[in-house]
Amino acid sequence: MDSLTSAFLAFAKQTRVDLVGVAPIERFDEVPADHHPRSIFPETRSVVVLGKRITRGTLRGVEEGTQFDIYGQYGLAWLKDRMLAVATIGLATWLEDQRWEACPIQDLDARIPASGVAVKPGLPAPNVMIDVREAAVRAGLGEIGYCGEVLTPEYGPRQRFQLILTDAPLTATPLLSKAVCDHCGACAKSCPLEAFKGDKDVTLAGKAMGVGAIDYAVCRRCQNGARPNGDHPAGLPDRLAALCVRSCVNHLDQVRGIENALENPFRNRPAWARNAQGEVSLVAGR
Ligand code: SF4
Ligand code: SF4
Repeated sequence: MDSLTSAFLAFAKQTRVDLVGVAPIERFDEVPADHHPRSIFPETRSVVVLGKRITRGTLRGVEEGTQFDIYGQYGLAWLKDRMLAVATIGLATWLEDQRWEACPIQDLDARIPASGVAVKPGLPAPNVMIDVREAAVRAGLGEIGYCGEVLTPEYGPRQRFQLILTDAPLTATPLLSKAVCDHCGACAKSCPLEAFKGDKDVTLAGKAMGVGAIDYAVCRRCQNGARPNGDHPAGLPDRLAALCVRSCVNHLDQVRGIENALENPFRNRPAWARNAQGEVSLVAGR
């Protein structure tokens, strides 16, 4: 690894950024112009993906069904718009101190449609949105699990990501070669609304993954810890505290042994589940 990348990673660790990966721009070759990093910064050589974990305790109130705002702040709003944003601009300023341009990219869903008109022929209309979760896979940080969320070897589904586009010649992180998801099916089995409709294949930068075919219209109505997308109705709902993903947290901690698995199990009591009629039941083993 070159000295610039080593120093960059050391600075990231020192500032408690939990995950950092570097995707060379060539890993975005298959991405259309209206979602491509070079549509925003044409000289981009490297896409840095950084992540901060959602602590397991942040999910505790939702798991017990007694406190949802802890997750709403420390797992979603504050994590995304404060802690992670501060980390992103911190790393961006470090790169510009080394005289490399660094364009910070917030975590907005790539499904949000353009809201302006193209300013030149051949350019996509603003705003170009980059798929941050797919970028995390392209940067070697994780894979798309069967539950449809990014899983990392360190935290399973418990993290959020932002990006920095830069012309810095950073050393690429290899694509993740080991599997995190073992296709146990706990996510799909725990869904009380039967939103999983079968299987599908996804390939990103040559990395093939088998994932669930999820009906997100069902997830948008889910009352099991999921939330509507806070930025735009076209964006996917937030499912990181939903029953399906909490079941994955439980499985990965206990069975797969992710790197940040804690001393005690996550799920200590039957999980609560709310069906389409709003009726609540307790289900052992979920
Ligand atoms: S619960 Fe099992 S199948 Fe679902 S994403 Fe997690 S590891 Fe994969
Ligand atoms: S978000 Fe809700 S409806 Fe969607 S898969 Fe998870 S538990 Fe099921």
